[in-house]
Amino acid sequence: MKTCIACGMPMRETADFALGDPAKDYCVHCARPDGTMQSYEEKLTSMSAFIVRNQGLDQGVARTAACRMLAALPAWKDQPGAPL
Ligand SMILES: [Zn+2]
Repeated sequence: MKTCIACGMPMRETADFALGDPAKDYCVHCARPDGTMQSYEEKLTSMSAFIVRNQGLDQGVARTAACRMLAALPAWKDQPGAPL
């Protein structure tokens, strides 16, 4: 089983993959409408919003938490903006 390189989500079904294509390394949530992978900034923004919604954290705190989560994923390990 593959996991998404951009968010870490396990991809079990064909529908979990970007464009429903199991050859892709990222999931449907990390794909833009045209099927390309979202940028670091796009993921950071959407993940921060997700944390704010689900954990009720302050926007700035949520963004820092999102940075840490993204830094652990293969797609972003060389990202210059990622802390640590
Ligand atoms: Zn993903």
